[in-house]
This record gives sequence, structure tokens and C-alpha cells, in this order.
Amino acid sequence: MKFYPEKYRIPDVSMQPFIDDNEIWDSINKAEVTKEKVEQIIEKSLNKNRLSLSEVAVLVQASDPELVELIKQGARTLKERIYGKRIVLFAPLYVGNYCSNNCQYCGFRTSNKDMIRKTLTKDELIKNVEALEDSGQKRLILVYGEHRNYSPEFIADTVRTVYDVKKGHGEIRRVNINAAPLTIDGFRIVHEAGIGTYQIFNETYHNETYKKVHPSGKKSDFEWRLTSLDRAMEGGIDDLGIGVLFGLYDWRFEVLGLLRHVNHFEACYNIGPHTISFPRIKDYSEGKIDTSYFVSDEDFTRLVAILRLAVPYTGLILTAREPDAIRKEVLSFGVSQIDAGTKLEIGAYADDLEKETQNLNKEQFKINDDRTLSAVIDELLDGDYLPSFCTACYRKGRTGEHFMEFSVPGFIKRFCTPNALLTLAEYIVDYAKPKTAEKGWRLIEKNLNQIDDSFVDEVKERLERIKKGEHDLYF
Ligand code: SAM
Ligand code: SF4
Repeated sequence: MKFYPEKYRIPDVSMQPFIDDNEIWDSINKAEVTKEKVEQIIEKSLNKNRLSLSEVAVLVQASDPELVELIKQGARTLKERIYGKRIVLFAPLYVGNYCSNNCQYCGFRTSNKDMIRKTLTKDELIKNVEALEDSGQKRLILVYGEHRNYSPEFIADTVRTVYDVKKGHGEIRRVNINAAPLTIDGFRIVHEAGIGTYQIFNETYHNETYKKVHPSGKKSDFEWRLTSLDRAMEGGIDDLGIGVLFGLYDWRFEVLGLLRHVNHFEACYNIGPHTISFPRIKDYSEGKIDTSYFVSDEDFTRLVAILRLAVPYTGLILTAREPDAIRKEVLSFGVSQIDAGTKLEIGAYADDLEKETQNLNKEQFKINDDRTLSAVIDELLDGDYLPSFCTACYRKGRTGEHFMEFSVPGFIKRFCTPNALLTLAEYIVDYAKPKTAEKGWRLIEKNLNQIDDSFVDEVKERLERIKKGEHDLYF
């Protein structure tokens, strides 16, 4: 039996390498695609079972338009049957863009001498958080380059600062992190600051490609990256986000790689990752990246539907990297979280809130959806989606909420929908323009019938209390 070298191992966990290129390619190449098989696999997922590697291999190989439509319809059905129309909203906040890595796709790479480097001072951080609170945000993800300046203590400090900022009725109730891999002790320090999810994308699960696009810096160590969330787990963080930067290698391989990562968590810790992210490369530097693996819109929407079916109980995060039309389509497949009102330029939330063009020398890449939080909420309401700022499970210590939503009968009707309605009501009272408010109250009214009968009165009573000015009511 093979194990990871000592430096990557976790005490008491049997850490065998879980990404095997040959196994993944064999599964893809051996997949026999028939309509009957695709239907059976979709049915298995609709019956709330995670799919196996060979089953997902069939789905990624099913390229006939009729089968692709079957897969997309399967994802829509799964979303409608299980998750309903809630979409959780958050915003990314870039804390610093110093970076000692050289990721060929990223504007923050150390060799990019045009990049204007900056780390928010404590005062600037506070001002940005205040601006985000003023727009109604309740959930943030803090993002950092990989640099000695961003030690676990520094990260923990910024998290505590964010939680401490209270402006008007505003407050940030959940701070997630997207930062470099740490040691077990480092993760422990960050965990103690009260973070929600720790998110690290492996970028690509293909070792050789990984080495090519990460030629230097700490990130060039594939195994250190791949085993990072195991150390997070050992450091006490069991709320983890995984992801792939699609476009570096064959998307079919990467989808199976993500599945293998999920399998690994389940086998070693009996719990899957909380979320999966699937950004596509944006604004790469000409000549640095092999563009032959770039993922078309058609394949992208396909792969999101496949991920939904493959791991039906894991949260899916879509980001502002994607244009509106793509967002619209994949929302219907069961994306559970999106960012809104996003600004990637460091300090931009406070600096220049009316600014319309991005300065690419200060940020990582260009976003496609630069609408305000209020505009995104408007559009979600128009599409009959229920925007949610819920942070209840995390604050009540109910970890693994996505799994509970999925597996505990009545959980959504008892907790998720009521909390979504209460947080939307709070947003309407504090921040919404009259037109949005009108649409919002109508949607709340309409969704009351989605709540467990025995709780409707209690939810109505809490909605009235929010209208009268109470805050932060949740189940
Ligand atoms: N430095 C940390 C790291 O690399 O994990 C965290 C911050 S990094 C800015 C967050 C993520 O941005 C990366 O994991 C990568 O997937 C994504 N990213 C980098 N360059 C990108 C690009 N050109 N287009 C889209 N996403 C990109
Ligand atoms: Fe640095 Fe992260 Fe960008 Fe790589 S992806 S250059 S590690 S900020």
C-alpha cells in the first residue's frame, strides 16, 4: 500500500494518494454511453445517492445533445425536488495581493511586475467592511495572496476585525476564507478566529499540468496543496471548500478529480466538503497558458449539471467570473451560492463605490457581472428565486448544513426557507429600494406555503417583529 511522504501525512489518518491519473483516464475511456445507462445514473442521483467514478465517467462522455439535455434536466429536477429556489448571497473581499507564487494564470503572480501591490490596512479593511454592510451584505469571503505577510495570525486578525465592524444595522455574520494552504497549527489559529468555510482550490488535479502552471513558489508543491484540507480538518476546520480552475486541463478529468477528492474526505473523515467551486480562467496573459483546454459555455453548463448529479448533497458556488446568461442557466441546475456586488480591486468597496471600470493592474482578473447587490437581488426576485443571507446553521453549531438540507426530512421547510425569508425581510427593511421591497414582500408571502405548517405562525410573527425593527431572528 502506498502512502504520502511523511511531510504530508496527518496523524492517525490513512492518507493514501487519492488522485491516480491512470484510474481517472481508464474510467473515462472505458465508459460505455447509452441512453438507458444515462437515465439509470440520473435516477440514482435523484434517489439521493452520490455517484461513483465510473458513473460520472459515463456522464462526462455523454456528448450527444439529447443525452446532454437529459443530464441538464436531471439536475433541474434534483434542484426543484430537494433544494427549491433559495440562493445564498455573499461578496469576496480581497485583503492583499502580495504573492510569492507564480501561477501562470493569475494577475497576482510574482513575475507580474505591472501589478500594483497592496494590503489593506486595518483602517481600510474596516472602511471596506462598512461599505459592504451599507449595501446589505452579511456573508464575506476574505481572499489573500500567498505571502509571508499573510501569516495565520494576520489572517485570524483580519477575520476578527471584520466580525467587529458594526455599522448601523449592518454586521458580517459569516466570514469565509480563500487563502493559501497552512500547517495544522496555522489552520488551528485561523479556526479559533471563528471562520466559516476554508476554501482552497486545487486548480487542477492533473499533476503534470499542475507543475507546468505553478513553476515556482510554495504552490509548486502539488501534494502540499492536495493535502491542505486534510491539515485544515486536523486543525479543527471541518467546513471546507474545494474547487478546480477550469481551463487548465481536460474538464472531464477535473470533474472526476473533484469526485475523488470528495471520496477521500468521506473515507477519511466521514464528511464531504461543504462546497465545490468551478471558476473558469479569465484574463490570462497571452502565451503563458495552453488555451487548448479552455472550457466552452456549452461544456461549462454541462459540467455544472454533472457536478450537481455527482454529489447531490454538496453546495455549489458560482462566481461573478461568469456572464449573466451562463449564471441564469446554471442557477437552474442547483447552484446554492453566488457572489453579488463584487469588486475585485483591493479596497474598491470603500474607495470609489461609483467607479465603473476596473483597474486590471490592481486586481486578479476581470469580472463579467459587476452589478450591485441590489441589482442582483432584483433579478433573482424577478426569476422567482429566494435570495438568502442565512448564517443560522453555522451560528447554531449545525455543521454540515448542506448535507442536512439534503438528508434530514423536513430540514429545508423547518430551517432553510424560514431563515431565508427572515433574512430577506431584514434586507428589505434596511436596504431595499421601494420597487425591490414590493417584489420582495410578494415573494415572501408566496413562499410562506413552502414552510412546514406547524411553523408558519411563528415565521409570520417573526416577520412582523422584523418589520417593527428587530434584527437577526433565525431558527
Ligand atoms: N492565493 C490563494 C490561492 O492561490 O489559493 C488564494 C487566492 S487566489 C486569488 C483564489 C483563486 O483565484 C485561485 O485558487 C484560482 O483558482 C483563482 N484564479 C486565479 N487566477 C484566475 C484567473 N485568471 N481567472 C479565474 N480565476 C482565477
Ligand atoms: Fe498567488 Fe493565489 Fe494568484 Fe497563485 S492564484 S499567484 S497563489 S494569489
